Amino acid sequence: MLFDHIMIRFGEISTKGKNRRKFIDSLLKNIRDVLSEHDSLRYQGTRDRIYIKLHGENHELIAEKLSHVFGIQSYSLAVKAEKDISVMKDAALSAVKSIYRRGDTFKVSTRRADKTFPLDTNEINYQLGSHILVNTEELSVDLHKPDINLRVEVREDAVYFTAKDYKGAGGLPAGTSGKAMLLLSGGIDSPVAGYLSLKRGLEIEAVHFFSPPYTSEKAKQKVVDLTNELVKFGGKMVLHIVPFTEIQELIQKQIPENYTMTSTRRMMLKITDAIREKNGGLAIVTGESLGQVASQTTESMYAINGVTSTPVLRPLIAMDKLDIIEIAQKIGTHDISVQPFEDCCTIFTPAAPKTRPKKEKAERFESFVNFEDLIEKAVEKTETITIDKQSSKTQESFSQLF
Ligand code: ATP
Ligand code: MG
Repeated sequence: MLFDHIMIRFGEISTKGKNRRKFIDSLLKNIRDVLSEHDSLRYQGTRDRIYIKLHGENHELIAEKLSHVFGIQSYSLAVKAEKDISVMKDAALSAVKSIYRRGDTFKVSTRRADKTFPLDTNEINYQLGSHILVNTEELSVDLHKPDINLRVEVREDAVYFTAKDYKGAGGLPAGTSGKAMLLLSGGIDSPVAGYLSLKRGLEIEAVHFFSPPYTSEKAKQKVVDLTNELVKFGGKMVLHIVPFTEIQELIQKQIPENYTMTSTRRMMLKITDAIREKNGGLAIVTGESLGQVASQTTESMYAINGVTSTPVLRPLIAMDKLDIIEIAQKIGTHDISVQPFEDCCTIFTPAAPKTRPKKEKAERFESFVNFEDLIEKAVEKTETITIDKQSSKTQESFSQLF
């Protein structure tokens, strides 16, 4: 017998009280987005489960796509049957038959959500277990460490049998924690910061600064490719590309060399904040990790952060580079990030940037220069693209994940 359903269990969202409905609706929408190519699927959301009815689709492919959806704790291939013990026996037997190998052990564990069902859990376990036992060969019972745990859920509408479980991506459904702007460079860190933010339910709009002709089209394409990788976790993503050349040239000319890096970061944050305000975001996310480079000391962050009171979230702040690289490899962004195209910041990095800049000094240096007009112009000339379709190249990498 073919599995005819996928049963999806929620993680933390079960505990979210009044917001529960909203969470489930978002999760359902995100699942539909990810599976939009399979238009014969049917969906049903209940208080604590989402069911997807299959119509002979490749359930392994669907199961794999679901592994990227945040807010799912686990999911299982399922067989749905009528609430009648003789029908249940047949369904249980065929579910086990479709997956067991000779020599396997099994057990039946029943959960009775519908307390009006006439048989109690022990009786159901016993009747189904013995039916399976007498109708199969070389299969035995092991209640402690079985190869196959046939779970039976007796619910209001029907009985569901599940035996093959998948681990979900965890976290919260994308879009349930509001919107933030992600400062996305072409490096290893910021895509990981984006991934972790999406995992906590944030909707992300990426902001990238580029400085032609100092940075090439390839550097820009790299950021598009990175965004494309992140899309599989969030459904779709907006990418703002900010022309930054004029501001960087002005900084080089007017700001003392050891403060150019600090001022560059301050201008990036200011512009991102303006883009955030225009687009209804409530926070800014960066890929900074404490002490990694000159701009990421506490003193630097204090001086840079001085341009805004908007929360700046740094999901990687306490992480080691090796741990960040491991996540980057897992989510498929690492190999794109290590391509050798220069980033606007790398090119203008001074030989000896101040590792302990003073906010007041940066403010004083900047007060002699008219940045405001250029900032306004950069925001105005920002190119915005929406990425919502996986390219065939990134589609391929699905299968290598997790
Ligand atoms: P990453 O690997 O994300 O580039 P990094 O370790 O190289 O980080 P920096 O280059 O100092 O560190 O950048 C710190 C953070 O500033 C980045 O994680 C990113 O959030 C932001 N950032 C740097 N360059 C750019 C850029 N060109 N466009 C947008 N954001 C940027
Ligand atoms: Mg970088």
